[in-house]
Amino acid sequence: MAYLSEMQAIEEILEVGRRMYQRGFANANDGNISARIGENEVITTPSGVSKGFMTEDMLVKVDLDGNILAGTMKPSSEVKMHLRLYKEMPDIGGVCHAHPPISTTFAAAGIPLDQAYLQEAVVLLGVVPVAPYAMPGSVDLAESVVPFCGKYNGLLLEHHGAVAWAADPIHAFYRLESIEYNATIAMYSRLMGIERPLTKSQVNELLTLRPAWGVTAGGVPEGRDDE
Ligand SMILES: [Zn+2]
Repeated sequence: MAYLSEMQAIEEILEVGRRMYQRGFANANDGNISARIGENEVITTPSGVSKGFMTEDMLVKVDLDGNILAGTMKPSSEVKMHLRLYKEMPDIGGVCHAHPPISTTFAAAGIPLDQAYLQEAVVLLGVVPVAPYAMPGSVDLAESVVPFCGKYNGLLLEHHGAVAWAADPIHAFYRLESIEYNATIAMYSRLMGIERPLTKSQVNELLTLRPAWGVTAGGVPEGRDDE
């Protein structure tokens, strides 16, 4: 696994923070972002700060057990979940968690994003399950994501928000954006009263693209029966 340099990680985290805030994914001080920069080193965002207005000196370096290696601020309490994800998936280098409104509505309702509405979402994102309810910042929350590691690209956190992971923070953020976009299409489809997923054979054909597109997880979104 090739990790980002510390400087690249800092730049990506600050940029993702600004985009996440501007897109309305993280109100006030919500959300957290991290990057793995070595076997046992992770850079993460602090608690109690708007992710739209972070500066380099606010970021914190921790080891995979959560011990602070550098920085003056307190790391986000949610860093436990990030560290758990890095421990379970040695091939990822970035995690992004926020509360995008439409995916968070699905998270509040306990409804997974598991319908195959859009071609690219089937290939690149796949199913987004709901991790069971856990207190924010708790060890339980960190544990709640473990059964989904290696199988999916992101999760809804029940009554809480969404989290996505990838090779680096920017790509983890792209996945978070995809989750929100898919939640939006699912919501509009339900509001229109017309739920018309791709057919099962269309889904299976799309899944054959995953290896070439470098996607190794995501499960199989549900299609409708072929006519
Ligand atoms: Zn949160």
